[in-house]
Amino acid sequence: MINPYKNISRPDPEEAERRAEKLRVSFADDYEKSARGESIRPRLGDLMSIQYMRERQTLTFILHPELKETAYEIGYRIGRDICSDMIRGKTLPEIMQSNQPIAESINYAFEEVVEADEHHAVYRHYECADCYGLPDIHEKVCVYEAGVAAGMFSEALGRECVVTEQKCCANGDPYCEFLVEVVD
Ligand SMILES: [Zn+2]
Repeated sequence: MINPYKNISRPDPEEAERRAEKLRVSFADDYEKSARGESIRPRLGDLMSIQYMRERQTLTFILHPELKETAYEIGYRIGRDICSDMIRGKTLPEIMQSNQPIAESINYAFEEVVEADEHHAVYRHYECADCYGLPDIHEKVCVYEAGVAAGMFSEALGRECVVTEQKCCANGDPYCEFLVEVVD
């Protein structure tokens, strides 16, 4: 294989932030459009099969597990900058309760909060779009979800939350389970 994307250098950090801000505004517009019942794409609409997304990211994480660090960071920014205003509540249990229906509302997964107090929470995802139906490949692959959740909860709580996936369908478990820890 000849890879034409080899050795791409990182952009200037300030330029990257300017582009990220432009995207943040664009994504917020997309959510508003969606709330009005309009789609981003005029002819094909906004829904497509989950298969392509799963193939890309699952192979990415088994061939390059070191990219999970980047995926968590990207997810965190999505959660913090784009999705956190969907969350209501001040305490971690209130935040978890408010978050619970969101996953199902976007057809991502059925979410169940198992435990929640001021310092930690545990929640499960059933029929997760990222991993449900995958074979046991000894990997927990729902890293974007963990990062998005961490960004959302940290922003909503005003304290740093770390989210780690403890169980995953791609690791032989029947559902995904996430541990939320308030670390400061
Ligand atoms: Zn999973």
